[in-house]
Amino acid sequence: MPQPSPCFDVAVVGPGPVGAAAALAMAQKGFRVALIGPSSARRDGRTVALMDGSWRLLAGFGVTKRLEDEAAPLATMRLVDDTGSLFRRPPTEFKAHEIGLDQFGWNVETATLSAALLDAVAGEPAIARLESSVSGMHADEDMAHLDLADGTALGAKLVAGADGRRSVVRAAMGIGGKEWQYPQAALTTIIRHSRAHRDVSTEFHTRSGPCTTVPLLGRRSSIVWMVTPEEGERLIGLDDGALGLAIEQRTHSILGAVSIDGPRGLVPMGGLSVERFSAQRTALIGEAAHVFPPIGAQGLNLGLRDVAALVEAADARDPGAAGGLAAYERSRASDVRTRTGAVDALNRSLLSDLLPVDFARGLGLLALDSIAPLRRFVMRQGLTPSGR
Ligand SMILES: Cc1cc2nc3c(=O)[nH]c(=O)nc-3n(C[C@H](O)[C@H](O)[C@H](O)COP(=O)(O)OP(=O)(O)OC[C@H]3O[C@@H](n4cnc5c(N)ncnc54)[C@H](O)[C@@H]3O)c2cc1C
Repeated sequence: MPQPSPCFDVAVVGPGPVGAAAALAMAQKGFRVALIGPSSARRDGRTVALMDGSWRLLAGFGVTKRLEDEAAPLATMRLVDDTGSLFRRPPTEFKAHEIGLDQFGWNVETATLSAALLDAVAGEPAIARLESSVSGMHADEDMAHLDLADGTALGAKLVAGADGRRSVVRAAMGIGGKEWQYPQAALTTIIRHSRAHRDVSTEFHTRSGPCTTVPLLGRRSSIVWMVTPEEGERLIGLDDGALGLAIEQRTHSILGAVSIDGPRGLVPMGGLSVERFSAQRTALIGEAAHVFPPIGAQGLNLGLRDVAALVEAADARDPGAAGGLAAYERSRASDVRTRTGAVDALNRSLLSDLLPVDFARGLGLLALDSIAPLRRFVMRQGLTPSGR
């Protein structure tokens, strides 16, 4: 006799950092949760700067305790116009103490964060961990139905699609969107350096995109260097000595002598904007819902805000009810679209060498540098959309 499908309140598809955080938050609200998908902890030198709001969300799951010995504070963000533009500004610095904080957030290796979240999931009895991939889904008024690659079928009142930029959930539920590519790739690695970083992250804006150093513990920093795909292939093929020297030159030796101190990765740059964030009994979160280049440390922080918004909108009796999903849709529209648009515009302004575009960027930085309330507003927006 066929077994009846197991039923959950919430099925989270995708055990990346956003999916794992969603599973923990939903379990904390009292729901029975399934977290579905294969675990992968590939280290590629990528780190994530978790802003204050994200850190507080993770603290609620006890995850920050596991990260305290590995995460470095980010107290100052410095922008350096290194485009050679006629209208370039002197470096602009944003300091956390200007908005009453000791640090904007904490920088940690993304693989370390994922491992800490999955450890917390393993210790949470309300979460069933299913390691198979989702191959298809459909939904009716009362329930969403998922098919897994290992032949399992299950039902849930709400499916949270956290399955990344190639989301099966998004495709299965017919949620359209616009995808685009940039003529860029991001080289990621970890460096050791002879000078102290003093908890400062520096974003050099170049004609191929930003090259950013983000502090790690001790005399170490992570690097996200946006270059043309061809240059990315050349750089990633260099030996450690030559790559360290290239990074030292690109960052104008502000961190002194540089050596490579971790794995490396190369990520093609693209964007995704979805036409809606929800469908019947379904919500999209994280990179299933939005993708943009790593400028200003926004992507995962935005994904964690999706999680907070979805948990807040979920009705305790029926987390996938239409009313809750409509509230989720409303709450994400402006935050996600504003950030996708702002990052896209800044990135394209760097790639353009048109004088009016350079002028507008220079003017923007001048305003940020000299108008104190605007500076504080922008800094708070980087932490939470409401500035709370
Ligand atoms: C170079 C670089 C630097 C970055 N730096 C920052 C930063 O400083 N700050 C910041 O906030 N953001 C940053 N980001 C963005 C951040 O890395 C992403 O937003 C984040 O990793 C997305 O997490 P996610 O859980 O949504 O997706 P993913 O990490 O892609 O996870 C998706 C998960 O779904 C699983 N999956 C896929 N298909 C299926 C399926 N069919 N069934 C089940 N599971 C499935 C995958 O195996 C994976 O585990 C950076 C990005 C890049 C490229």
